[in-house]
Parts: sequence; C-alpha cells; structure tokens
Amino acid sequence: MVKPFLQALKSGLKNVYDVILPRNCINCEIKLKKDEQYLCNSCFQKLILLKTHISDESISPDKYYTKAYSAFKYDDVSKECIHFFKYLSHTKMSDYLAYLAFDISGLELNTKYDYLIPVPLYKTRLRERGYNQAVLLANSFSKKLNIPVSTKIIYRSRHTDTQTQKSHEERKTNVKNAFKLHKTAEVKGKKFLLVDDVITTGSTMNSIAKLLKENKAKRIDLISFTWATTFTHQNHKNKS
Ligand SMILES: [Zn+2]
Repeated sequence: MVKPFLQALKSGLKNVYDVILPRNCINCEIKLKKDEQYLCNSCFQKLILLKTHISDESISPDKYYTKAYSAFKYDDVSKECIHFFKYLSHTKMSDYLAYLAFDISGLELNTKYDYLIPVPLYKTRLRERGYNQAVLLANSFSKKLNIPVSTKIIYRSRHTDTQTQKSHEERKTNVKNAFKLHKTAEVKGKKFLLVDDVITTGSTMNSIAKLLKENKAKRIDLISFTWATTFTHQNHKNKS
C-alpha cells in the first residue's frame, strides 16, 4: 500500500513542479537543458523578432498612441507561449515573457511613464479565469522598470466578444466604448504604458489610448510580448 501511495505522491509533486517550472519544451516537448526555460534553444530560435517599435501611421491612421513595442511576431511558437501562460494558469511565466519583451522590443527608457496600465478584463471574464494575464505581465514589467502599475484608471465596462476571428473594422466596433475611466482617475498630463500579452490589430489598445487622450493624457505607448503583425524585423531593417 505504501509504495503506490509514494509513487502517486512523487508523480503529484512532479506535476506540481512542472506547473511551476516545466522541464520540457512547451512547444516541441523535448527535455530542456539546464540553462533553458520554457522553450528549447531550437524553438526559441523560431520566434520571429519584431525588434524595433512599430509606430507607422499606415498600421492605424487614427491611432492615439505614440509608439508600440512588441518582441515577437504572433505565430506558432509565440502563440504556444501565450496559450501556456494564459489558459493553463502558468502564472509564473509572466517574468519570463515580460523580461524577454523588455529586452527585445527596444523599449526606450527615456520616457518617464507615470503608470503601467494592464488592459482590463471584464469582471465576469476575470472571475472565470481567476487572474488577468495583462496584470501579471504589468507587475513583471514593473519590477524591471520600477514604474507603478495602476488598475484604478480604466475598467472594461461591458463584455466584448473575442477579437480573434474579426476583421479590422469589426474589431474597432467591438471595442468601441468598451472602456471607461474610474471616477477618481487622474489622467491629465500623465504618461502611460499600456500592457497586454498579445496585440492583434491594436484596436483594443487604441480604444484605451483614445479614452486617455480625450482625458488629456500627455502620452500613451504600448508594449506586448507578441503582435499579430506582418511588419517583422526584415520589414523594419532600415529603421532603428
Ligand atoms: Zn522545443
């Protein structure tokens, strides 16, 4: 009786350990080497760098943010990272993703942001998931950048459908007026860095930026781990 119990306990502990820090590559599942985290080197190399900030007017002519920083193109491997982080409750992964995004996105540190603002979830979604992945990422960025996180400036005032299958125009309509300012929020003259795990077209972030700008915010930039853009590092090679 003791042996099966010990075995169960052992495998239980192993599973717990794997949740805290998986020892197999989350993409190809081979065993990780000591110096690898989450991804083996070969899968890590498959991440497509965005490298430089994306601030082209052509992406969104009616944009309210100044610069958008993102580390990797949203494709197979980065998608796997986000899935692992977001839906399997691997909340410990936020430091890994945030530090990579910080290192690779080329975030310029000369802008003195007043607050990091994680993109809020609607309250029912938050209850379902138990955490907001953007808040976890913002907290990880905060440790690195020494800028406070605020969840008291904006909130999501209604449920919005997932943006995944929508066209650019549909996304804009979907998130229109979905965010509101908290009554006590002080926005005037402030600089904000909005944080999310994935930027798709930027419509969600842009609608928040619009709200902040309309309330006299001085500057809004965006940062994310990954962006579903066609503008990869190659497209940006003439920029710095
Ligand atoms: Zn791998």
